[in-house]
Amino acid sequence: MKKRILTGLQASGTLHIGNYFGALKPLVDLTEQDGNEVFLMVADYHALTSVRDGELLRRYTYEVVKDYLAVGVDPEKVTLFRQSDNLYHMELGWILNCLVTVPFLMQAHSYKDKVAKGLEANAGLFTYPMLMAADIVLYDIDVVPVGEDQRQHLEYTREAVTKFNNAYGDILKEPKELIVSGVGIVPGIDGQKMSKSYKNIIPLFGSPEEIHKAVMSIVTDSSGERPMNVFNIHTVVNSALGREASYLEDLYTTHTGKYKALKDALSSDIETLIAPMREKRAAITDETVREILAKGAKKAQTEAAKKMEVVRQAIGIQL
Ligand code: ATP
Ligand code: MG
Repeated sequence: MKKRILTGLQASGTLHIGNYFGALKPLVDLTEQDGNEVFLMVADYHALTSVRDGELLRRYTYEVVKDYLAVGVDPEKVTLFRQSDNLYHMELGWILNCLVTVPFLMQAHSYKDKVAKGLEANAGLFTYPMLMAADIVLYDIDVVPVGEDQRQHLEYTREAVTKFNNAYGDILKEPKELIVSGVGIVPGIDGQKMSKSYKNIIPLFGSPEEIHKAVMSIVTDSSGERPMNVFNIHTVVNSALGREASYLEDLYTTHTGKYKALKDALSSDIETLIAPMREKRAAITDETVREILAKGAKKAQTEAAKKMEVVRQAIGIQL
């Protein structure tokens, strides 16, 4: 059945392999299924919760779009746009913020995790789930491919939809998350969730040397024979290369206790997966990025305007 799909990534740093496996690859796969209507957003206003340098945000925006294109997002099939190019996101975000309570938002894991990691508890970070809800419901989205860390935010989106519809009528659509099993939480080099803002990433498009360096610094404990942090990442990469799980089992059995050899193998497998995409990426110019975003902005605005006309009428903003 034809579905509307959307996902978004923050322009808050260098994309990593967790972003690829958790959100981008599922989106690309869904685009290939007939009839699906796909939206892909650069969440630049979300990125303001952690980036406070205009030049950097601009740079990240170009980089993120190049990453999208390099992993196989087809701008002819996908509406690829920046959140900031469609101000309805801000407007609907505010409307939804007025429907949920502070104690409700205080329970958001992602907020608590980020603050625990030392990120500033700014109000934008706190109300992030309602801006994210707006991102989704503006386009009548059915399915949102995300990592496990976003599961609760999708619940928050549905809660906002319920609150809105109870108050104003059946206007907003409830979306569902799509969390691909096995790639919901790709661990970072410290074993925690890999995150742009946690400085524990394996960069998706790092140079072979950068990727190798990151893999070599994966934290391993000296107790076991199998370095689980390495193995867990390797499992995801192995499967993306189309190999059986038994291939990895054999490799880790043959190299029991030999952490360096296993890390070398992981680094080389990531390289095999990434190299063709990296080559494609090098040919994408800033000009191409601007052209694609301009086209995406128009389509996103047109789609969202239809929804917002109904929303504005219902809440009493339209006179
Ligand atoms: P930040 O630290 O700024 O929050 P992030 O690395 O968490 O960055 P986001 O832009 O917040 O990335 O998330 C983009 C998408 O990537 C989301 O769907 C999120 O669930 C997914 N994602 C992020 N990290 C992982 C991970 N380690 N494993 C699987 N999916 C992930
Ligand atoms: Mg995140």
